Parts: sequence; C-alpha cells; structure tokens
Amino acid sequence: MPQTGHNFDAIIVGARVAGSAAAIMLARQGRRVLLVDKAGFPSDTISTHIVLAGGTQVLARMGVLPMLERLGGVRFDAMRATGPGFDYTSRLDSQGIGIRGLCLSRIKMDATMLDTARSFESIVVREHFRVVDLVIEEDSIIGIRGEDSSGVHEFHAPLTVGADGMRSTIARRGEERLGAFRRRDAPCKRAYYYQYFAGVDRARLGDELRTEFESEPGEASLICRCDDQRAVVAVAFDADEIASFRNDLTVNFRAHLARSLIVGDVLAGASAIGKVYSSGRLLNTYRDPAANGALLLGDAGLHVDPLFGQGHSLALMSTEIMQLLAGEWFGASHGTVIGADAMSSFTKRRDAELMPYYNASVRVSEQLALDAATLMAHRAANTAQWAADELIRFGQMASGRKGFPSFRFARLMAAQRRAA
Ligand SMILES: Cc1cc2nc3c(=O)[nH]c(=O)nc-3n(C[C@H](O)[C@H](O)[C@H](O)COP(=O)(O)OP(=O)(O)OC[C@H]3O[C@@H](n4cnc5c(N)ncnc54)[C@H](O)[C@@H]3O)c2cc1C
Repeated sequence: MPQTGHNFDAIIVGARVAGSAAAIMLARQGRRVLLVDKAGFPSDTISTHIVLAGGTQVLARMGVLPMLERLGGVRFDAMRATGPGFDYTSRLDSQGIGIRGLCLSRIKMDATMLDTARSFESIVVREHFRVVDLVIEEDSIIGIRGEDSSGVHEFHAPLTVGADGMRSTIARRGEERLGAFRRRDAPCKRAYYYQYFAGVDRARLGDELRTEFESEPGEASLICRCDDQRAVVAVAFDADEIASFRNDLTVNFRAHLARSLIVGDVLAGASAIGKVYSSGRLLNTYRDPAANGALLLGDAGLHVDPLFGQGHSLALMSTEIMQLLAGEWFGASHGTVIGADAMSSFTKRRDAELMPYYNASVRVSEQLALDAATLMAHRAANTAQWAADELIRFGQMASGRKGFPSFRFARLMAAQRRAA
C-alpha cells in the first residue's frame, strides 16, 4: 500500500467549518497538517449558514472575518424572535460588545476557509480523498486509510482529527474497533427545509435575523439576508410529516410561509430561486470526543438540532478550545501518539462551555411545542429590553463565562412563574 513520504503532526479529516479552522489554527502553531476531504471544493452542503456571534467571534480572532464579509457575507445586527406570548428584538451591538452574526452561503465560506488553509506551506490539502478506515496499533489510532483516484493510501500522525461531520467515519470506526467515542443521541422531532429568495424589500427586512415559533403547533421559520442579494428562508415542522411535505415541496413550503407572521410577510414581491433543500431526519448527538491518538471536532463530536443555528458556532468554538490546549499535548508527546488522558482537558472544557447550548437544543428537540422553560424564558425576555438582550446574547452563544440565566433574569422568570 502506498505510504506517505510526509511527516505530519496532525491529520484532519473533513475540510469545512471545523476542519479548515483546525488546520489553520494548528499550522499557526507550527504543526504540519494533512487536511483531507472526500468532496472537491467549492462544494455546497445542506445548511442555512447562519453564523451566530459565538462563531463570528472565533472567525474574527482567526482574522478571516473581513475576507468572508468581502465575499458578500451579511453581518446581521439585529435579531427578532416571536412566538406564543412574545415578540421582541435585540440590537446585537446594543451592549457595545459587537455580537453581530454572519450569513454567507456555504459554497463560498467553505471554499474560502479551505483556500486560507491551502495558503500555509505546512498544510497539505487532498480533496476527493475518502477516508475508509482508521489505522490502529494496540489501543491507539495512529492514522487513516483512504482512497482517491490514484489508489489506496495510508497516513500516520500523532493526532488524527475527525472533523468529518455528523456521520463521521472517524467516530464510527473508532467506536466499532476500539469502543471509543461513545455516543448519546436525542432525536430531533422537527425536519428542516429551506430556499433562497431574491427581491426581498429592504423596507420590510433589514440586516436582521428573524425567527418565529409556533405560528401553527410544531412549526417554526426563519429568514436572514445573505450574499448575492438573496435571503435564506427556512421552515421547520413535524418530521413525521416529511413524506406528505415532499409530495409537493414548492406548494407546501409556500403554504408554511403563508401561515407565518413575521417571516412570510416580508416575502411579498420576492421570488424564489432554485430548489427547496431539505435535511431529512436528524439527531442531536453527543460523543466522547477523545481517544488515544484522535479527537472529534464540530458535528462529529457534538451535533445539534439546527433550530437555533448553533452548528457552525459549536464547531468553531470547540476548535478554538483545541487550539488553546494543543500546544501542551504536542509538547508532551514528543512525536508519539497523543493520549486520550492528555486530551481529557479538551472534553472538560468543551463540555463546560458548550453543553448549555447542547442541552438547550435537546430540550427544544424533544417535543414540537416549545418546552415550558424555553417558553418562560422567551416570555420573560418580552417584558424588558435588558432581558431581551440577555436572552438573545445567550441565543447568539455570546454569553461567555457569565452564563445564562443571570440572577436578575432567573428572578424575573420566578416572578412570572408565581404570577402565572
Ligand atoms: C438543514 C440544516 C440547516 C442548518 N443550518 C445551520 C445554520 O443556519 N447555522 C449553523 O451554524 N449551523 C447550521 N447547520 C449545521 C451546520 O451545517 C453544521 O453544524 C456544520 O456544517 C458543522 O461543520 P463541520 O465542519 O463539523 O462538518 P461538515 O460541515 O458536515 O463537514 C464535514 C466534511 O467532512 C467530509 N467527510 C465526511 N466523511 C468523510 C470521509 N470519510 N472522508 C473524507 N472526508 C469526509 C465531508 O465531505 C464534509 O466536507 C444546519 C444543518 C442542517 C442539516
């Protein structure tokens, strides 16, 4: 079997949000990286591509945000949320901490992140390279086996990163062969469909992310401006209705929007572009991210229901946590496989920082109606601007270490509970 002549510190499988970001961060620390993807770029993927503030802050620290803006990425600076008993808006810069989001199509964003990775001499990129298995020695993952048009290849490195998405081959093979990366799933009750629209009137919709819950039981919708003078519009509904929804996608998509109050109403005079995209059935999946020689990042390690648009941000935030810790791991490993014990620091920190968002996602996934705690938080946010700003800051994944809810917000919810 052909073997590499290169000597890599890390092999990264998957070259989108998590993978390209991880490669760039490791290269900046002087690591030699092999970055592979089965796709060839530019390449689209199913996603409404809203990057919340938690993610844009990482992109800003990486220095790539201005480039993504130049490609036409819309920096939305307001968020409006509506649902049963609430309708409030927060200006994302109102607290002076710059928590604007970004909306840029994946085809541009992923290709640009990969081109940035490619510009590093210490990163070797192989597209159209499909990883089929892990290379394992005793209880450690020492590399990958994959194939492209030139045949089957094996690569070895002290660290293999699975950034290969929610159906991760790295996670699956690690679980099957080593009992690693144990998973916990929670099914998503909703399914997601989206489409682009042109000609959305600026007077009706500015650079704003709008979300709407329960115009009908179990339904949700979202709209945001994105690149190329378009808006991306998404709808969510009971996943058990996927088959009947698919009978006539265009008619059903339009009918859903006609029932929505603050999403459908801005589409008067706008025209749909291209097809309706869909997700099929989804899971929230938590995985133990570390094994001897390998680490899972992004959806491979933590996959959430798209309802709140958290996926990119979780991917970028978890990757940045790896960046903070990786110097220590490589320093101590002296070129040998990085052990799961060393990387337990990643698991602890990822879970401390990101599980509140994962748990919020699982709560809204489990049932079609908003659960009582989420509804109460929205209704509390509806009573005062400071509360709206605080909840949206959490929704934007920008609460930082202060967390959510603050004492003041919890007191507001308790008062509401007593009054109910
Ligand atoms: C309908 C829908 C809407 C969404 N909307 C949003 C949103 O608005 N905002 C948001 O933040 N998130 C959203 N998400 C989630 C978001 O798309 C993901 O969280 C994000 O793409 C995760 O990035 P990633 O890099 O971990 O994985 P991915 O983007 O899935 O990339 C994985 C890469 O790995 C490659 N790969 C996989 N297997 C192999 C293999 N065996 N060998 C080589 N390469 C391989 C794939 O080709 C792919 O390029 C949405 C998801 C869905 C389904």
